[in-house]
Amino acid sequence: MEETFVTKALILKRQPWRECDSRVIIFSLDRGRLEFIARGAQKLESKLAGHLEPITLATIMAIKGKGFDYIGSAATLDAFLIIKSDLNKIYYAGRALAWLEKLTKEGEGDHNLFFLAGEYLDLLNKNFVLESKITSSTDKEDKLESKTIISTDKEDQLESKITSSTDKEDQIARDKVLFNAFLQKLISLLGFKPELYNCVNCGQTLSPNNNAFSEQKGGVLCSKCRNLGLPISDCAIKSLRFFAKNDLNKIQNVIICKEDGDSLERALNGFLEFHFF
Ligand SMILES: [Zn+2]
Repeated sequence: MEETFVTKALILKRQPWRECDSRVIIFSLDRGRLEFIARGAQKLESKLAGHLEPITLATIMAIKGKGFDYIGSAATLDAFLIIKSDLNKIYYAGRALAWLEKLTKEGEGDHNLFFLAGEYLDLLNKNFVLESKITSSTDKEDKLESKTIISTDKEDQLESKITSSTDKEDQIARDKVLFNAFLQKLISLLGFKPELYNCVNCGQTLSPNNNAFSEQKGGVLCSKCRNLGLPISDCAIKSLRFFAKNDLNKIQNVIICKEDGDSLERALNGFLEFHFF
């Protein structure tokens, strides 16, 4: 007898398969990453196709077959239409889903990872009209942190850098921050925690200016050991600390400038590439 099961899933990828079928890779709530054939999904009249677009949350009824497993039916729960109408958001959602495909295990459910991905896409699927610009430097906790850990850092550095930006630029910067925060949370769910307070080479407490990030050693290097890694800005280090302490919902209000965002992204991506390939 054929086994069937129903699961909530994020559609990660869909590719043409044979003449008119599709090969679909999903990240399911209960069984992790799974691969299916969706019969007839390339035909114009297919009822399945619309529910199996990448970047979709759907309820899937799956049928286990002898060679392949098949999708019996699918119903969209969230099509994330704001993401799909914005190239920048599609880019970041696509990169997040690509990491999920690489890092999740076949057949092994991980509820925390699933909820993190769902929360990330929910937040990315919004556009913000800001009444007032908020940055991490207005947060009390972060102020405290910048005073105690990065004591010579100008507190309003983050804020002053964004004053000339437009709403669209804000949105792009915000989406980038959200993506990087997602990466950091993904890394920590996988059991890694980049070291952000003491030099990963000599152990000295970090101070501002001339730090670097070591993908290999998994954290920040002090100015004396900086040759062992790639430069990382003070603001990027501050942001990583802020991300580690706060949930995505709070992080979505943070805007950091492009260079610091790039510095952050280079560190996190490098870390993932180094440890997971
Ligand atoms: Zn050091």
